[in-house]
Amino acid sequence: MSEHEGKGRVGFIGIGTMGRHMAINLAKAGHQVTAFDVRRESAEGLAAFGIGFAESIAEASAGADAVITMLPDTPDVEAVVYAEDGLLANPPAGRLVVDMSTIAPQAVRRMHANFQRIGVGFVDAPVSGGPIGAKNATLSIMAGGDAPAFERARRFFAAMGTTITHVGDSGAGQTVKLCNQLICGINIQAICEAIALGRASGVDLHQLRKVLLGGSAASWMLDKLGGAMIDGDTSAGFRIELMLKDLRLVQQQAQALSVPLPATSLVTNQYLDARAHGEGAHGNQALFRVYDRMTAQADH
Ligand code: NAD
Repeated sequence: MSEHEGKGRVGFIGIGTMGRHMAINLAKAGHQVTAFDVRRESAEGLAAFGIGFAESIAEASAGADAVITMLPDTPDVEAVVYAEDGLLANPPAGRLVVDMSTIAPQAVRRMHANFQRIGVGFVDAPVSGGPIGAKNATLSIMAGGDAPAFERARRFFAAMGTTITHVGDSGAGQTVKLCNQLICGINIQAICEAIALGRASGVDLHQLRKVLLGGSAASWMLDKLGGAMIDGDTSAGFRIELMLKDLRLVQQQAQALSVPLPATSLVTNQYLDARAHGEGAHGNQALFRVYDRMTAQADH
């Protein structure tokens, strides 16, 4: 059996909202997983799935066919790659590193060049589908990098997602993800506006959502977050601060390429308002709290 098929050994770094489910799905698919996270408490519950917990990046990487990272932001991935005991100094035996976080494409291309110099394949493979997609192994995975490295990563992607696409050279996965985030952010804003108008007009908001889901205004965001917005449930999922990070990356790329994004700019301001009012750690549905304040309805 070639290394493109069968079960392998994976070091998984970043056992958070997404990474926990993804590591568990890799283990459920028969891969041997060793996890690492700076928060020691992330180890809780992993042993039941046969997942070991390493004490360092080097330990998670040693003997692995591939290391997968799922970390919050660009500096976190850079820390894991470039630290003295990081992945560049301790690449996995299988010489394949896959970053599935959403980070800056320019930083990805730098990492790709650095790994290439020491003969290690590096794939950027951000995901869409949220914690529900991560849990159900139905993520959409958009990958950038060299085709052979992508093919070597495919068996691991198959354990975590259902739509797995090689979209181009290093950084292309992140570019596609940023386009995804731009649409998601503007869509959430549109849903907030529709719910605000519906509420002020006195219509039944759950019925409004149900009807809209059956027509041309239907969207993943309305389906997954609309109910929570209406109920004032701000519990975390995809955090406001992570979307703000993504919108910042979108703006940076757009400015570098002189692409005007007026709707993205407007939505970014709404997210800044939400974070300034203490909503950063809440889920994206908390963007509706901006409307509560605008319309003086802070208490549901
Ligand atoms: P999270 O903050 O819940 O998890 C990240 C984990 O990384 C945490 O457990 C943290 O302790 C760990 N970590 C941070 N720095 C580390 C380091 N230096 N070494 C080891 N571990 C470290 O984030 P998340 O929601 O799982 O998101 C991860 C990435 O996926 C982000 O880039 C995010 O934008 C993207 N993403 C998230 C969602 C979502 O719905 N949550 C959906 C799609 C994409």
